[in-house]
Amino acid sequence: KQKLQDDALLKKSLTVSKKDWERDDFPWSKDLLDALTKVFRIKRFRELQKAAINAILSKEDTILVMPTGGGKSLCYQLPAVIGKGVTIVISPLLALMEDQLHGLEKINVKAGMMNPKSDKTVTKSIMDALEGKDDGLKLVYITPEYMKKSKRFMAKLQKAFNMKLLELFAIDEIHCCSTWGHDFRPDYQFLGCLKDMFPGVPILGLTATAPAKIINDVQKMLDIQGCLVLRASFNRPNLFYEVRRKPADKEVCLSMLANLLKTRFADMSGIIYTTTIKDAEQLTSDLRDKGLKLGCYHAMLEPEVRSKIYQRWITGEYQAVVATIAFGLGIDKPDVRFVIHHCVSKSMENFYQESGRAGRDGKKAACIVLYRLADIFRLSTMVIGDKVGLQNLYKVLEYCLEPGTCRRSLIAKHFEENWRQEDCAEMCDHCRRPKKSKETDIGSHCRQLYQIIEKALKGETNLTLIKLMDAWFNKGAVAYRVSSIPVPKFSREAGEAIVGHLLVNGYLKEDFVFNAYANLTYLNRGPKSGLAMDKNHRIMFCHDQALDL
Ligand code: ADP
Ligand code: MG
Ligand code: ZN
Repeated sequence: KQKLQDDALLKKSLTVSKKDWERDDFPWSKDLLDALTKVFRIKRFRELQKAAINAILSKEDTILVMPTGGGKSLCYQLPAVIGKGVTIVISPLLALMEDQLHGLEKINVKAGMMNPKSDKTVTKSIMDALEGKDDGLKLVYITPEYMKKSKRFMAKLQKAFNMKLLELFAIDEIHCCSTWGHDFRPDYQFLGCLKDMFPGVPILGLTATAPAKIINDVQKMLDIQGCLVLRASFNRPNLFYEVRRKPADKEVCLSMLANLLKTRFADMSGIIYTTTIKDAEQLTSDLRDKGLKLGCYHAMLEPEVRSKIYQRWITGEYQAVVATIAFGLGIDKPDVRFVIHHCVSKSMENFYQESGRAGRDGKKAACIVLYRLADIFRLSTMVIGDKVGLQNLYKVLEYCLEPGTCRRSLIAKHFEENWRQEDCAEMCDHCRRPKKSKETDIGSHCRQLYQIIEKALKGETNLTLIKLMDAWFNKGAVAYRVSSIPVPKFSREAGEAIVGHLLVNGYLKEDFVFNAYANLTYLNRGPKSGLAMDKNHRIMFCHDQALDL
């Protein structure tokens, strides 16, 4: 019943017309445009920026869902500039705040950051401003952790509130409030007190990831149920999405990559994402051996080194940067023509964000994923610590396994957006070259895999993906093979696709073992194995006809 109520509230909030908020006849409309062009030196608003600003200036609690890079910060910075009082920006990362403070300093907007490490004069000037003793300060940045800890700051906020100096609470990365979010931060829960303590001060929540479930959670936690929710489109029409099979042979894979960079992406700039620092370093040196000019970027480099690499990439000295996901914050290069994932991302959100760094200039760019089932198993041991880590990873697996559906429609579906087929305009591999797909019942293969797993378990052995595949294809240790099972006539790639399908559908599952040396993952019968044991149970697998099952 609670869920029904939640859904109704959410629907109501979604049906508030965006158009009402796009009007230009609000009392502040002229000031807005003035500040936009004169202070921010921006010509026009992007999608939903004006609506969000008008809503919060009308004291409406608002959640703004907009992809990364869409321009969310302007939606609180601009109102802060034209307002008399102070806007409190709650943000999870010091680095993000510092970036924004630099930007604001450049355009002469006064802003400060509350930080236990900042020197006393900074803190004092912020505290004074909250008491109305300094009328120039427009924005105060703070982390939820510090806000929760600092009684003094909260007391000053109370004073500012009493003097009507509080304009707005802008809460960045608002999905951190929700335990469903991929980066839940317990201290965000503290923000639940804002509505009660400061009634009438609007809240603006900002995020790039917002399935209904998360929005619901966030609204409840902040006590702003039924608030206005504005969603910008996730569709990036100029990005071409493609998934390629990643060759198992390392040398073949390297040649493929080198070939892409030397021909299709010759003289173009891009990013190649890998998983670990070791991978990034290895891949960089392997590709340099093939004559490519590349930088390597990861979190363990000194800031000066990082900025040098970034500069060389910006100026074109490096064609591409081979990077871990540490490469992201503050990237501001409009002409990124390709983003290649040498290893899949750990969630669709991550994938969207990483691939979204391509084509910011609106011109065509490619987002290519190199997919191998083995990489999923490497990642699963890394994400298992997150509550929904594995679930998120399997969404990526589904995206990669999908035999014929438009990639864009899969992304839209993931972000719960409506979709029309013609919206892709052949800007994905499946729409450009439609493949013939076919449905096959793989129930018997599933039962055969169970037999292999059972036999191994009797011998007190867990099977990794490789061992399971070997036993099935009559390779590797004889002890694991089951002689009554026929050797598959299809390719090992097809076999892996079957395992992938069984995994995302709960017929197989991963078991994890953590020891001092490594985190290991094994394959076991999944929650649906009871069903599958029935000989008549069919498991329909829709796959590329070329797999030839
Ligand atoms: P988000 O927080 O949504 O990821 P940001 O607020 O960091 O995005 O903005 C990304 C970039 O877009 C910034 O460089 C910002 O200056 C720029 N930007 C924002 N709004 C506009 C606009 N209306 N026109 C041009 N550039 C904009
Ligand atoms: Mg942002
Ligand atoms: Zn498509």
